[in-house]
Amino acid sequence: MNKRPEDIAHWRKKSFPILGRTLTSGEIDHVRKATSPRQWGMVPEDWVCPGCGRSKVNIIRKTEQNVLSFSVHDRWYWDGSQPKKRIHLVLCSDCGWVAENLGVEARHSIDAGKGPNSALVGVAEIRQVVMPRNNSRHRIDNEKVESIFSNIVTRIPEIIFPTGN
Ligand SMILES: [Zn+2]
Repeated sequence: MNKRPEDIAHWRKKSFPILGRTLTSGEIDHVRKATSPRQWGMVPEDWVCPGCGRSKVNIIRKTEQNVLSFSVHDRWYWDGSQPKKRIHLVLCSDCGWVAENLGVEARHSIDAGKGPNSALVGVAEIRQVVMPRNNSRHRIDNEKVESIFSNIVTRIPEIIFPTGN
């Protein structure tokens, strides 16, 4: 019997502030050169996040410390067409955070213990559940999450230890 206490779903019901204005070229330059040069350099200038479709400039947002920054998640995601059912991809960290939390919630629902989380979630699923906003965290479509959640749970036994090679 699956249990899914409300608090474990809390992450996707939170609301996050929205920047609500366009970044200045000075701010973008500052992120590129001062706050996030390493992360900025991990993907080409014309890259868009495969999860949310946002450009690099639109992914820049304030951190909890109120600093404008750019960050990406470089890790394994689910891909049923691959021999090991996983694919290594770079997504924006807001999409990566969604995958991570979906994985945690799925594991928790069947008391599966700890393990790889984002590797349970496919990029097409991230695309379905995120409602992207420029320079802000994503809003989450909870109805879509409900519709894909059981698929994610069924993968848990298949993805035992996808880290490493
Ligand atoms: Zn993204």
